[in-house]
Formats: sequence, C-alpha cells, structure tokens
Amino acid sequence: MEHTEKETDQGTRLESMTLTMDSLSQNEEFSRVVVAVFASRLNPTLEELDDIKTAVSEAVTNAVVHGYQGGEGRIELTAAAGDGILTVQVKDTGIGIADVGQAMEPMFTTAPEGERSGMGFSFMEAFMDEVIVESTPGMGTTVTMRKKIGG
Ligand code: ATP
Ligand code: MG
Repeated sequence: MEHTEKETDQGTRLESMTLTMDSLSQNEEFSRVVVAVFASRLNPTLEELDDIKTAVSEAVTNAVVHGYQGGEGRIELTAAAGDGILTVQVKDTGIGIADVGQAMEPMFTTAPEGERSGMGFSFMEAFMDEVIVESTPGMGTTVTMRKKIGG
C-alpha cells in the first residue's frame, strides 16, 4: 500500500493511497471499510460516510461480478483527499463495457437472472457528486467518483 502527500492548487495537502487486491467478493466489504477510514480525515458526517461506503462497494462488486465475472483478476482502489473533496477510483482490467451510456441507465443489467437489479451505477451517481466511467472492451474499466465532504 502506498501513501503520498502533495500540494493542491490551494496550497492544502492532497493525500492519497492506492491498494491492489484480488478480485474476491470479501474485498467488497474490505474496500468500503478502507475508504471509510481514509475518508474520515475529511470529517464526514455519518450520512456522507454511508453514501461513500455504498458507492465504493457497488463499484468493487461490479469489478468482481462483471469485470472478472467471478474469476481471477486484480482490482486497484485509489482514494485521495484534499480541499474537502474525496476522490475514489476503482479500476479493473477485466472484460470492459461496450456501451457505457447504456450500462449507466437505471435498471440496465447484463445479469438479470441473478440478484442484480441494474441499480449499481444509479446508486453511485445518487450518493456521489460525480461519477466518471471509462471502459474499453477487453481492456477493463475505471470508475472515478468524487464527493464534496462537509460545508
Ligand atoms: P446491481 O448493481 O443492481 O446489482 P448491475 O451490477 O447489473 O446490478 P450496474 O452496477 O448499474 O448494475 O451495472 C450495469 C451493467 O454495467 C452491468 O450489468 C454490467 O453489464 C456493466 N458493468 C458494470 N461495471 C462493470 C465492470 N467493472 N466491468 C464490466 N461490466 C460492467
Ligand atoms: Mg452493480
């Protein structure tokens, strides 16, 4: 695990951490706890923490379930804090998404037979201020989410 600090434009500290882990369902819970503890340095409310945890576990679950389809793979989780903004990035090098716009529509899912409801991206967008999805079929997916914490 790496930990770096550098200056932002406003002169305040930007702190970040990157964690790389196996694509395993138990890392969904692990990731949300790691990001919640990291985010606590921004003094979030309990509601903000809950929002962040939900968004992170949705993104990591997607990497495990869709990106690697339950198979082997590595997931990179990055969190950064500075100027009262939390940025979280979840990156996989799995199958990728052919049509990101369609994938992000509420209730769109490619796994309707299971317990999936196609609401993961909608939750991420509802609970974070910004969600950016970059994906290339066969190369993988990177989800970047930002949330302003406090005032
Ligand atoms: P839910 O999140 O409600 O359990 P879901 O995962 O299908 O259902 P979303 O999280 O909104 O819903 O994702 C929509 C679709 O986008 C998925 O069904 C899948 O096809 C695709 N997708 C999402 N994340 C990834 C990823 N990391 N790699 C490949 N495909 C993905
Ligand atoms: Mg999902």
